[in-house]
Amino acid sequence: MEKKQELYRGKAKSVYETDDPDHYIMLYRDDTSAFDGKIIKQLDRKGRTNNHFNFFIMKKLEAAGIPVHVEELLNDRECLVKKLDMVPVECVVRNVSAGSICRRLGVEEGKNLNPPTFEFFLKNDELHDPMVNDSHIISFGWGTQEQIDEMKSLSLKINTILSDIFDKAGLILVDYKLEFGLYHGKMMLGDEFSPDGCRLWDKETRKKLDKDRFRQGLGDVIEGYEEVARRIGCPLD
Ligand code: C5P
Repeated sequence: MEKKQELYRGKAKSVYETDDPDHYIMLYRDDTSAFDGKIIKQLDRKGRTNNHFNFFIMKKLEAAGIPVHVEELLNDRECLVKKLDMVPVECVVRNVSAGSICRRLGVEEGKNLNPPTFEFFLKNDELHDPMVNDSHIISFGWGTQEQIDEMKSLSLKINTILSDIFDKAGLILVDYKLEFGLYHGKMMLGDEFSPDGCRLWDKETRKKLDKDRFRQGLGDVIEGYEEVARRIGCPLD
């Protein structure tokens, strides 16, 4: 498939048109951003690591019956994906309290959440991705009730599948963010799943092995991602 012009340049990935109207090529760059893009740094091996990690996880999810946009790993940094019409919200599932929920609700980090929480955030950098509810999504036309129900149900199914994979690797899936879109009207998981968009802690030591290493200046960011990949058996080349 022929790669055409860059359509969209996000904080860490670029999306390219192809000669096929149903497919895009996603390019994973080494850019790493935090705090709504206020801090951006290049981290060696990051694009490659996240591309391989995302492909591995998406294929596991697909095998477990989740519709995903990822089709083919093209090279270390690029992946062929279905062109989705994205729903402009982020879906966040939390198994353990951390990050923004602690700041918003004044709860301490590390509390087990049973059942897991589910939150929607509007994708809007200028507004710092405000939290929205079902009623906002429907009234402003960002999605229908049926689409909301599907995103929630898929997000929680994904929680069961991924918590099990990480648990077997001695890791706690603390929380994660997902984005969904429509492919010819069918809801599918889009964007990416990598340590950039989730929190993963070692089960025994609670060592952080995700993007919080970058946000909190803990160092060894990509080494953390690589350790997770190694533990779940994800090849990085
Ligand atoms: O910041 P917060 O605690 O709400 O993030 C919850 C989860 O969603 C974290 O794993 C974080 O990495 C992810 N997230 C993300 N992109 C955003 C917001 C949150 O990947 N824009």
